[in-house]
Amino acid sequence: MLSNIQGKRVLCRVDFNVPLNAAFEITDTTRIDRTLPTLRQLLSDGASIILMAHFGRPLKKKKDDGSIDTEKYSLIHVVPYLAKSLGREVLFCEDCIGEKAISITANLEPGQVVLLENTRFYPEEKNGDLDFAAKLAKHGDAYVNDAFGAAHRAHASTSIVANFFEPENKSFGLLMEEEIANAKKVMKNPARPCVAIFGGAKVSDKIKLIERFMDFADTIVIGGGMSYTFFKAMEGEIGRSLCEDDYVNLARDLIERAKEYGVNLLLPKDSIIADDFSNTANFKISPSGEIDEGWMGLDIGPQAIADIKASIRQAGTIIWNGPLGVFEMSNFAKGTMEIAKSIASNDGFSLVGGGDSVAAVNASGVADKIGFISTGGGALLEFLEGKSLPGIKAIES
Ligand code: AMP
Repeated sequence: MLSNIQGKRVLCRVDFNVPLNAAFEITDTTRIDRTLPTLRQLLSDGASIILMAHFGRPLKKKKDDGSIDTEKYSLIHVVPYLAKSLGREVLFCEDCIGEKAISITANLEPGQVVLLENTRFYPEEKNGDLDFAAKLAKHGDAYVNDAFGAAHRAHASTSIVANFFEPENKSFGLLMEEEIANAKKVMKNPARPCVAIFGGAKVSDKIKLIERFMDFADTIVIGGGMSYTFFKAMEGEIGRSLCEDDYVNLARDLIERAKEYGVNLLLPKDSIIADDFSNTANFKISPSGEIDEGWMGLDIGPQAIADIKASIRQAGTIIWNGPLGVFEMSNFAKGTMEIAKSIASNDGFSLVGGGDSVAAVNASGVADKIGFISTGGGALLEFLEGKSLPGIKAIES
């Protein structure tokens, strides 16, 4: 992180996009908690901090009259928790740019913390507008990016703003440094065997990731809704299970490529199938490629759980993204929860990312036994795919 920041105003991009309930109370503080070490270090090094962040999608979810819902999407809701966590007052600035905002941030004393209003109240944020970024940059003498969850976006506050700071005046925050180091640990010389577990609804979202992991994983587990496209590719009967017909050929290619590369592509041999997409549906165990007409696979079955656990037990490195079934419904959550617990009991290094997988790890009470829990969903996937993330590039260049 930055050194020599005594007396400097540090403009810090954080990920405060936390879930709120109807009373605007934070229901999961993880994202704020994970960035506190960075903020504490900046403060103890004698800086003042100007925080900027986005919150929800205010321009996509406008009120009926077409105006922005400035109450619902205001970052003011995080101020009490942040102030309590930092043990000091947090000033709130109702606009992230403009004269009034500048008048607040221009003369900060070391130790003072200001939170700017939601950057996404302006379309210029998502457009990566240079003038808007220049206005944001005026708030700080230095820039720190700790928002890994938004690092795959070339937005004004995550990427473009960094152009206005000299290399010696910009850096990653501690969380961002940790995220990058842990993702690299999986990608470069992972302890073997390296087991990648991918679940979720769509093959189309994970295809690049699967292709990339063919190069260095020893085992790739495909679970969740996307596994049925693979069973279709093997001429299996999948009933009404999720299937992306446009990806059947690609799934067939991947099966062939795995054989060629010597990668163990582990598909769930059996599934929990249901006669409706509902927690009250009838359900039973079935081979995954022999699903009765009208039924659908909603979770991995007991044989699949045993097979995946056997792989996990041997693994030196595990990466997991995406639930292995419809874990939101209790009857179809077992596969995901069992795999979460199994990963936690492995002695090797494990990296878990993506909202659903992280939620499963938390719900299973094993979060403290996971090597690293990433705060990035899309950002982590893109990083693992080998893409250059705008938020990272802007600091490194
Ligand atoms: P993704 O955003 O692609 O990671 O997908 C997550 C979603 O996939 C979750 O909401 C799960 O309920 C859903 N999912 C997982 N397995 C299945 C399945 N077998 N059938 C339908 N949806 C599934």
